[in-house]
Amino acid sequence: MRLLFDSGICGIEAEHRLRAYGRDIRKVDALIISHDHADHIRYAGVYQRKYALPIYITPRTLYKAETENRLGRLTNVNYFLSGGKLHFGKVSVQTIPTPHDAVDGAAFVVSSEERKLGILTDLGHAFKDLIPVIASLDAVFIESNHDSEMLVNGPYPASLKRRIQGPKGHLSNKEAAELLQAGANLKWACLSHLSENNNNPSVALKTHYDIVGQSLTFYTASRYKPSGILIV
Ligand SMILES: [Zn+2]
Ligand SMILES: [Zn+2]
Repeated sequence: MRLLFDSGICGIEAEHRLRAYGRDIRKVDALIISHDHADHIRYAGVYQRKYALPIYITPRTLYKAETENRLGRLTNVNYFLSGGKLHFGKVSVQTIPTPHDAVDGAAFVVSSEERKLGILTDLGHAFKDLIPVIASLDAVFIESNHDSEMLVNGPYPASLKRRIQGPKGHLSNKEAAELLQAGANLKWACLSHLSENNNNPSVALKTHYDIVGQSLTFYTASRYKPSGILIV
């Protein structure tokens, strides 16, 4: 089963990044959308029309996106409710409502018969339901958005700084690392959604190693190139 989460990069870029690792975007079975922000949904319509991907999305997220981002004509839309479960053959995707400032955001746990992978970005804050989720995972792709000091001292206007740090914003490196302390079974964590202005991979990794320790393997996801194949 081939699942693609979110569609923030253009079709050609997504096609090329997948092809670099021998994957054909046309063979993706489902495009699953987390929330209505442009960096996650912008090209969903393009992926569907160009590559015939079925879209899985909540009704409220689609409504919001269509009014704001103009996804264009869609013909294959499958709805889920945030908190519900999707089934694709032997793989299931549990969706988890997030307190992020989208209309109906979701994070995901992808389960096969014996492994669980978390896809946890745009979380709002480290809400308590995340602890048992992290504890259940074998691997996780998790938001580690900013270094708090870099954000405070950085170039963003005060209102944006408040939004990012607030309860509906993004997780800092420290918040993400503290969550990962619950991950007793984790084989690896891939740090994602790193801010371009308020974070960088070495700062993020240092915070995580300082808090979580050396026992967990960390990767960082780049905005500009594929991360390679990670096996759960
Ligand atoms: Zn985002
Ligand atoms: Zn977002």
